[in-house]
Amino acid sequence: MNIVYDLAVIGAGPAGLVAATVAARHALATVLFDDQAAPGGQIYGPPTAGQNVRPETQGGDIRDAALIDAFRQSGATPVFDATVWAARRREDGLYEIGVAYGAPEARSVRITSVRAVIIATGALGRPFPVPGGALPGVLTAADAQVLLKTTFIDRTRRVVLAGTGPLLWRLASQFLDAGIGLEALLDTTSRGRQWRALPAAWDFARAPNFLRGLAEGRAVRRRVQVIANVTGLEARGPGRVEEVQFVAAGGTHVLPADLLVLHQGVVPDINLGSVLGCAHRWNDARACFEPIVDEWGGSTLPGVFVAGDAAGVAGSDAAEARGQIAALAVANALGRIDARARDVAAVRPRAALRRALRGQAFLDAVQRPADAFRIPRGDTVVCRCEVVTAQDVVDAVRLGASGSNQVKAFVRCGMGPCQGRFCGLTVTELVAQECRMSPDAAGYFRLRWPVKPITLGELASLPSSPEADRAVARGMLR
Ligand SMILES: Cc1cc2nc3c(=O)[nH]c(=O)nc-3n(C[C@H](O)[C@H](O)[C@H](O)COP(=O)(O)OP(=O)(O)OC[C@H]3O[C@@H](n4cnc5c(N)ncnc54)[C@H](O)[C@@H]3O)c2cc1C
Repeated sequence: MNIVYDLAVIGAGPAGLVAATVAARHALATVLFDDQAAPGGQIYGPPTAGQNVRPETQGGDIRDAALIDAFRQSGATPVFDATVWAARRREDGLYEIGVAYGAPEARSVRITSVRAVIIATGALGRPFPVPGGALPGVLTAADAQVLLKTTFIDRTRRVVLAGTGPLLWRLASQFLDAGIGLEALLDTTSRGRQWRALPAAWDFARAPNFLRGLAEGRAVRRRVQVIANVTGLEARGPGRVEEVQFVAAGGTHVLPADLLVLHQGVVPDINLGSVLGCAHRWNDARACFEPIVDEWGGSTLPGVFVAGDAAGVAGSDAAEARGQIAALAVANALGRIDARARDVAAVRPRAALRRALRGQAFLDAVQRPADAFRIPRGDTVVCRCEVVTAQDVVDAVRLGASGSNQVKAFVRCGMGPCQGRFCGLTVTELVAQECRMSPDAAGYFRLRWPVKPITLGELASLPSSPEADRAVARGMLR
């Protein structure tokens, strides 16, 4: 058999780094791909030459360096600046993976024979569709973090943060640490969610990050005007965002703003798993789709595992533990260790996972965004790539589209370069509400590769025969 690699790990965040390290230590020929220039993923990703960057604005800690060092010494093959844009299961049960290298090479390679895959592609910001949300100057938290890490943000800009969840407060700290003042933090956490979360509060109070989160919240409150119970949020232009309108304490208010950063939590990135054919289901407590996985991260496809936030959002400690657990399962499945050795080695990461998940139920309950912020109405743009509004989606359903995928065919939402990353969940929930069905029944877009945008040149550069594939793959990856 022409086995090029035993295992391909996709994503070099905490989950993927640990998974690749553990797999390589068990003598699995392991390759790790990430579309960023260096390891670390969303949280530990390296700062670039931005003027705002200070290490403490990153949110990581000293352990990141240790993770990356261990990975570098493990013998796994790292491939950065490499976007996995396709993956499929072949008839012989092996996996084939399409990888594009960005400029200057701008070419693609097909890894033809991979025995197992660990998807560690992390999470995406949950869609936050509000009126005016498509105006220039309205950013997601991910955009804002990229700006903070890479660019100079003019300190005279009037910045407003709006949304819910711990990352919003982390982002506020990151802005303040970078010396950029905030006009206000508009907290959209819906009234009463804390009460619903109360039964899980004791666990949360014992969660590893509880005290750190509390301190961070207090520090932000000392320096920023925080407005609670915000509803009716709107960005207003005309040409770009100039003010933010919202309802709070029984009145309508307007704040001037040059930048509005919206964030209401993160959800698993299910795109690659969907393209492969892994099954997913709706998690109503978290209002998102998650892959169906067993206690080892094993998906519904043999040989495909999901680790880290891609398996269910739980933060970097849980991601590391899940990466280790999945790699042990692969080592067992490919005959490097027996089931007993796997189980013994998994005791510590399982304990770490339990610790990391403590308090998660509280967070899930508190930060589940209000319906009005997940299921918009009227002219609010849902799909930015194809400029599709909430009303367009509703009209498509009224014309007979019976699920999210048919709505895509009717109005093109999800057909743009983001492949539904910014609108998929919103469309599902809109369809479910309009058809009075569950989000599982409404379904998600049926995704096809390329999972991420690639150029025609990259596609055309694919080697033309299996032999050439192997030669190119060996040459490029070793
Ligand atoms: C927008 C955002 C901001 C966050 N900010 C913070 C923060 O400030 N502090 C904090 O503690 N936590 C933060 N988190 C949470 C934290 O990043 C995660 O909990 C943790 O990093 C999860 O680790 P992971 O390994 O599962 O995924 P990640 O760390 O997200 O790593 C996934 C990696 O996969 C890569 N990838 C994805 N798809 C492909 C593909 N098709 N081909 C190649 N590579 C691919 C990504 O570029 C990324 O490097 C943030 C999360 C998000 C989504």
